[in-house]
Amino acid sequence: MGLYMSMYIGPYAEATASAVEREIAVYGCTNRQCARWKDREGWPLAAAFCATCGSPTGQTTKKSKKHPSPYEALGESERLSPISDDGADGVCYFIPNIRGDGCGERLGGDRGEDHHLDLSDVDRETEMKKFAEQFSEELDALRKVYDVEICWGLQVHWS
Ligand SMILES: [Zn+2]
Repeated sequence: MGLYMSMYIGPYAEATASAVEREIAVYGCTNRQCARWKDREGWPLAAAFCATCGSPTGQTTKKSKKHPSPYEALGESERLSPISDDGADGVCYFIPNIRGDGCGERLGGDRGEDHHLDLSDVDRETEMKKFAEQFSEELDALRKVYDVEICWGLQVHWS
């Protein structure tokens, strides 16, 4: 549980992706016939040889279902920030990391801080359009991996 709460109100991207099967690097016994073949993990073993069959240990690959990494999807750009970047449920939210027109409002703070924001004049449609234009490059990159929907609303995040 985090200690610092940040809130964002404004346009954001809701990105959904199903898990895709990918080859990942794993370490352990290199002998397919060995009972320990299925125990290969994502980190190298200390032992140079398998305790069960005596084969050398090392890196092999296996197929694993994984959600995309939002940072990989964004590439070099840091103009959008992913929220819930573990992507455990396959949904990730992207909010602006810069200030400007169509970039919403960020509020944050420690316990006890008050915020008051008048939203009565906000034109949500226009803000969502501006967001889509301003971050079109990033959104195109995200669309290669995610289904992307532009929304307007509140994101609350503890860190
Ligand atoms: Zn073995």
